[in-house]
Amino acid sequence: MKIAVAKGDGIGPEIMEAVLKIFTANRVPLEYAFVEMGKWVFDKGFNNGMTPAAQQTIEELGLLFKGPMETPKGKGVKSINVTARKTWNTFANKRVFESLHGVTTVFSKAGIPIDITVVRENIEDTYGGIEHMLTYDVALSRRFITRPGSMQVIRYAFEMARQKKARRITCGHKANIMKLTDGLFLDCFYEVAKEYPELKADDVIVDDLCMKLVTRPDLFDVVVLTNLQGDIVSDLCAGLVGGLGFAPSANIGDYISIFEAVHGTAPDIAGKNIANPTALLLSGIAMLHHVGLTENAAIIENALLYTLESGVHTRDFGDKTIPAVGTTGFADAIISHFGKTPRIGAKEIIPNKPGTPTPMKLEKNPMMVSKEQGSETIAGVDLFIQSDEQPTTIAEKCKGHAGTKFKLVNISNRGTQVWPTGSVYTNLVNQYNIRFESINDQPLTQQDIIGLYVSMTGNFRICSFELLNKWGDKKAYSLAQGQ
Ligand code: NAD
Repeated sequence: MKIAVAKGDGIGPEIMEAVLKIFTANRVPLEYAFVEMGKWVFDKGFNNGMTPAAQQTIEELGLLFKGPMETPKGKGVKSINVTARKTWNTFANKRVFESLHGVTTVFSKAGIPIDITVVRENIEDTYGGIEHMLTYDVALSRRFITRPGSMQVIRYAFEMARQKKARRITCGHKANIMKLTDGLFLDCFYEVAKEYPELKADDVIVDDLCMKLVTRPDLFDVVVLTNLQGDIVSDLCAGLVGGLGFAPSANIGDYISIFEAVHGTAPDIAGKNIANPTALLLSGIAMLHHVGLTENAAIIENALLYTLESGVHTRDFGDKTIPAVGTTGFADAIISHFGKTPRIGAKEIIPNKPGTPTPMKLEKNPMMVSKEQGSETIAGVDLFIQSDEQPTTIAEKCKGHAGTKFKLVNISNRGTQVWPTGSVYTNLVNQYNIRFESINDQPLTQQDIIGLYVSMTGNFRICSFELLNKWGDKKAYSLAQGQ
């Protein structure tokens, strides 16, 4: 079985070599196709951080094991890591956080065991990076949460929870504020939950979730979240088990999966042979499980746990009275402990059943569409305008543009209604949202909207607009605060 390997930047090559040395010593039956990917490839002029040959190899093999990669600096330049995850639709980011005996944390001292798996949506949300300056003062980020994307990651989380015989699966969200975006994610969660009656499915608002995770982490098992909240919560969980040096990450897709550590390139310690390879090794172990090499995975993990229990450590953790070993020394210690069983957390050795998920050859981009419920109509439009005038002045001007089809419903500034009612104590910025809806609920056409848009340009600079849709009687847009 062959996999693609990219060593990465900074500490990447050192920790990757350490992990592959452990794999080779354990006779892991994998072949490696080393691919050109990273900041150094970006610097050669490949904007996605990989050569076309690397992309072809990864797409043919369906599996990439990668070291961390530096994000090139500069406006408009995207992270190579995020580009890779998005290009290949690795929709679920799975991170397992387990207490490791030998890694002292406040919870290990208190005897509270941690075993949390965070599944983070990996494609959508603010990570679309779709941002615009509407005025000199106002930046706007578009946050896409989609039904098919949410269903894909949530279904993966439930299936994984079922397989690991989890006791509980929790959706972290902020649907109390973001009623449509996080609300959609939460709806999908409970829709999928119906198919898994044996799992206790519940939801917790993300701020409350953070508080509960740091006070009673042992109460959680599998947690599924949207992209940005998942990013933050998973780093919080890394802190619970001893830091980023112990956080593995699997990016799972239907066609291609990527295994990597959570941490970055650690430029401050690169090239010094002091980096901790544990996170990349744990990611590698997860990859071995993914391709059915369960026996190699268990032997290596037991050796790692035994090594940690023995007090062997790199500089970034462990008992300071015991001298630290380097990256290679740590790998050698693990190799010398093959066949040993740790006192705590020993993994059962299950014979290998190799079988890589066969890479699928795609001819065209897969389209994901749900069956639409109810009929869609246009009920109005939000016009985002630039103005530093007062709300009443703007309202008077807008009324003149409403014509026979539209009525001016409200005006808001930073999401707070300032007309027809509001308060003079609401501070304003020079960008308003003007909401027009149709008179008597008459469905509108796109031409009606464009007509209003053109008319409004007579008085205002329009920065952006958004249709107000309805599905049946249901409004598919949020109300302003105070509306
Ligand atoms: P970082 O994770 O590289 O480093 C943060 C701190 O943790 C540093 O003090 C570092 O020395 C330490 N650290 C990280 N990994 C370690 C290890 N294995 N052993 C010992 N100490 C370790 O985060 P950063 O400095 O914010 O980012 C550096 C670069 O890495 C940036 O260009 C960033 O974009 C990139 N990055 C890449 C990935 C990825 O490839 N998936 C993830 C995060 C950051």
